[in-house]
Amino acid sequence: MSKGILAVVSGFSGAGKGTVMKRLLEKHDDYALSISVTTRAPRQGEEDGREYFFRTKEEVEKLIADDQLLEYAEYVGNYYGTPRFYVEEMLSKGKNVILEIEIQGAMKIKEKIPEAVLIFVTPPSIKELEERLTGRGTESQDVIHSRLMRAAEESEGMENYDYLLVNDEVDGCVERLHQIVLSEQSRARRNEDFIKTIQEEARIFMKGEN
Ligand code: 5GP
Repeated sequence: MSKGILAVVSGFSGAGKGTVMKRLLEKHDDYALSISVTTRAPRQGEEDGREYFFRTKEEVEKLIADDQLLEYAEYVGNYYGTPRFYVEEMLSKGKNVILEIEIQGAMKIKEKIPEAVLIFVTPPSIKELEERLTGRGTESQDVIHSRLMRAAEESEGMENYDYLLVNDEVDGCVERLHQIVLSEQSRARRNEDFIKTIQEEARIFMKGEN
């Protein structure tokens, strides 16, 4: 069985990544979403083991020391990291694994696992991002401002990603993401075993002809 694709998805807060991921998993069953460990406190409605594994600083530092995390980063005063075991297990089962992580972690994955595919989700414009954040009505002007500042910082690294995904409309965005993964699966260099088999069969055929 072929190994799945490891897809790293980053994007501005408010770009709608969460909705896109949720819809992708509902529509296609060959995906697995990695659940990270974090030291940040759960938000209302979040459950341990669903959104994140909520752990203490000491517990996360032990995971780091034991090399149990594929990558980790500090983000606004907290640790966030990707447990290695689940990702490796799902990939070996042929699932496409999605890591929804920030930019520093994405760069570490690219360094460690060059065959990972890096995708950056962005709204069509910063104006639209501002309107979405304001429209949610859940955040104060201050929080909206700091999220936009953060978006401005993160935009500096966009060109290091393999693909840009403009989230103008959720369903279209989900399908484009799925198409990216399908195209990656068709890359010749990801299918070396298949190529060898076909070449071997062709050689046997040619021998038979002589
Ligand atoms: P939040 O606190 O809003 O859930 O997440 C903050 C940021 O951390 C988001 O950009 C999210 O994508 C990122 N993040 C979540 N899990 C991980 C992880 O395992 N590793 C890294 N590097 N970033 C993560």
